[in-house]
Amino acid sequence: MIDAVVVGAGINGLAAAVVLARAGLDVEVWEANPTAGGGARTLPLNEPGFVHDWGSAVHPMALASPFFRAFGLAERIELTAPEASYAQPLDGRHAAVAWRDLGRTADELGRDGPAWRRLFAPLAGRSAQLLDTVMAPMLPMPAHPLLAARLGLRMARTGLPGAPWRFSGDAAPALLAGVFAHSISPLPSLAAAAPGLVLATLAHTVGWPIPHGGSQAITDALMADATAHGARILLDHRVSSVADLPPARAVLLDTSPRALVAIAGDRVDSRYRRAAAHFRHGDAATKVDFALRGPVPWAAHDVSRAGTVHLGGTWRDVAQGEADVAAGRHAKRPYVLVSQPGLVDPTRAPEGSQTLWTYAHVPAGSDVDVREAVIAQLERFAPGFRDQIIASSVTTARDLERGDANLVGGDIATGQVSLRQLVARPVLSRAPWRAGPGIYLCSAATTPGPGVHGMAGFQAARLALQDVFGGPTPDLAP
Ligand SMILES: Cc1cc2nc3c(=O)[nH]c(=O)nc-3n(C[C@H](O)[C@H](O)[C@H](O)COP(=O)(O)OP(=O)(O)OC[C@H]3O[C@@H](n4cnc5c(N)ncnc54)[C@H](O)[C@@H]3O)c2cc1C
Repeated sequence: MIDAVVVGAGINGLAAAVVLARAGLDVEVWEANPTAGGGARTLPLNEPGFVHDWGSAVHPMALASPFFRAFGLAERIELTAPEASYAQPLDGRHAAVAWRDLGRTADELGRDGPAWRRLFAPLAGRSAQLLDTVMAPMLPMPAHPLLAARLGLRMARTGLPGAPWRFSGDAAPALLAGVFAHSISPLPSLAAAAPGLVLATLAHTVGWPIPHGGSQAITDALMADATAHGARILLDHRVSSVADLPPARAVLLDTSPRALVAIAGDRVDSRYRRAAAHFRHGDAATKVDFALRGPVPWAAHDVSRAGTVHLGGTWRDVAQGEADVAAGRHAKRPYVLVSQPGLVDPTRAPEGSQTLWTYAHVPAGSDVDVREAVIAQLERFAPGFRDQIIASSVTTARDLERGDANLVGGDIATGQVSLRQLVARPVLSRAPWRAGPGIYLCSAATTPGPGVHGMAGFQAARLALQDVFGGPTPDLAP
């Protein structure tokens, strides 16, 4: 009998493998795809010489998460945060920019600057503690109760009907809309405000870094560490049942909750089985990746200095696009998330040319090619964009699921980001990773949810060490 099997080599599965292997256990990872990484892979998609992030592109949590801080990711790979974390172009050659420097951001927001500063300064001053709070279960108490209360107050100001309050111009609400829309939920809503405020805070602290070589560099660093400590990673090994696996004292599943039940069957507790049956997947994304002749010709110059660009216009425009998706429609002017990796990483494309990573929000299960709607949004804020295109490729929401079974219907968060599922993911518990005796859920479908932070894998592995092997958490430093 081996000690532990991990099903799925996404960031969380690999984080679990690192922790268990470093604890001296015999660990095997079974991955369905021919390449590891799940939502964090970098692949050639359209034109020779151009590589694209198939899933995640921008990684504030890879610097800030407690797991990656302990793992010393920043010492293992090159991560560069642009001076502008994100930008929101507006019609008429204007743009709002979230600079890493909070003061500069506030100054450029004019009359709304003091309100922006008041919103973020108290969170930015304690951003490590903020991450510790939001990346742990809320039971029995948040890690830093006062900070949690500050976050709650700000969620009310920006997430309740009528929000955001206390801004008089268009620019500050537009900036918030761009970052809140990451959760693919209606605006305003508390579910969008909670992760949005955390991401927006990190924009003014660690920044929103881009890894050299793409998100695959993060996956590769985890694989290298796990295998250096003895873990075996079996690619092209899809698991349908625990009966496929060698007998093991613990099985950790980097899967959706329903897949966990399908694979582990009656080894899953009845409460967890019920929670999996009620677990909801959210709306989706469709990727459009471009190979470009050169940089995007943004009408507002500062947008070219931002690693991430949110396209949609004002708060009202973005909210309309998100409302369409929530109603099951493809928005005429969808919210589009853009990453410009060429700003800091010349390895993605031949000299002088660029890659551009984009996705648009679409209803769950969409198989629609939204390339023209995405190009129209780019042309709106960067006239002449179309002339820069060498090639493009579309990965629909359905294609995303075909490429990674966890992305059910193209749900890139592996579970709807709703208030309920932020707190009970998939169960309300101090230890939501434990699904049954020796069975653990370790994917983005459990606490703390989506993102490249490795925390679900880290926490599930720590729980398995405690429950099954009786050992402490090992040192993870390089
Ligand atoms: C298009 C897109 C853009 C994103 N952008 C960002 C971003 O910019 N920044 C950010 O922080 N996050 C982003 N995310 C979210 C982030 O990538 C994910 O939350 C994170 O990678 C989830 O990691 P995971 O290990 O939980 O699961 P996954 O990455 O989904 O990995 C699960 C792995 O398990 C394997 N697997 C599943 N079932 C089985 C089975 N039965 N047998 C064997 N193997 C199995 C899958 O093949 C996959 O490799 C994005 C995601 C997508 C899809």
